[in-house]
Amino acid sequence: MFVDSHCHLNRLKKAPTREQVALLLDAARARGVNHFLCVNVCHSEFDSMAQMMRGLDGVSISAGVHPLDIEDGVDIELLRRQASDDWVVAIGETGLDYYYSKDSIALQQQSFEAQLQLACELNKPVIVHTRDAREDTIAILKNGQVERCGGVLHCFTENWPMAKQALDMGMYVSISGIASFKNATELQQVAKKIPLDRLLIETDSPYLAPVPHRGKENQPAFVADLAQFLADLRGERLEVLAQQTTDNYFNLFRGANR
Ligand SMILES: [Zn+2]
Ligand SMILES: [Zn+2]
Repeated sequence: MFVDSHCHLNRLKKAPTREQVALLLDAARARGVNHFLCVNVCHSEFDSMAQMMRGLDGVSISAGVHPLDIEDGVDIELLRRQASDDWVVAIGETGLDYYYSKDSIALQQQSFEAQLQLACELNKPVIVHTRDAREDTIAILKNGQVERCGGVLHCFTENWPMAKQALDMGMYVSISGIASFKNATELQQVAKKIPLDRLLIETDSPYLAPVPHRGKENQPAFVADLAQFLADLRGERLEVLAQQTTDNYFNLFRGANR
């Protein structure tokens, strides 16, 4: 069994309705993908996303504000209310993205720190998006004592020293389909080194479809292709990688029901 530890089901082009999401989840189950974490990126989408996902089998959700969606900042009181529901199993995605936006660095940092603090307060793990902001990301995670709530660096594309620092703080590292791209040789070396008991897999769908689906819209079913790619890369049996990444998911996202 596989888990898609990070997807945006409400943003799939083919899935604007609950019925269509249900069909995509059926397609995923047909490939052994049975759990899904649908990740929130902004305040304004939370209610409609939660409404669309509620009651769907194997789906958990998060509440958070993405570094590229902060606009006027994060409303922590609103987030606290949204995240208080049991089936909201994580805070995020939050984090830092200096690649796409250098103008909002101060606001991104503020938002990240506040969401990390809330995660610790609510005792829910934090989902961290990080791009071109290695030192600042690690500094905020350290200062905020991420080990109190736990967390994951999702869709990891940075280098081994950064992964190592996160692992040393007890975090998980999640690999997306980017690792299967032909030119991703450096990331493949990193993906090889992540201890199996700290590895998560994700599609980040609808973005970033893995090989052999590049160019198509990504969907949770494709996490099975990524798992096969990683098993080959790491020289592990697919069943072992599937079982351990599933256990890791439930260890980290302790509010999710098996
Ligand atoms: Zn992200
Ligand atoms: Zn995402």
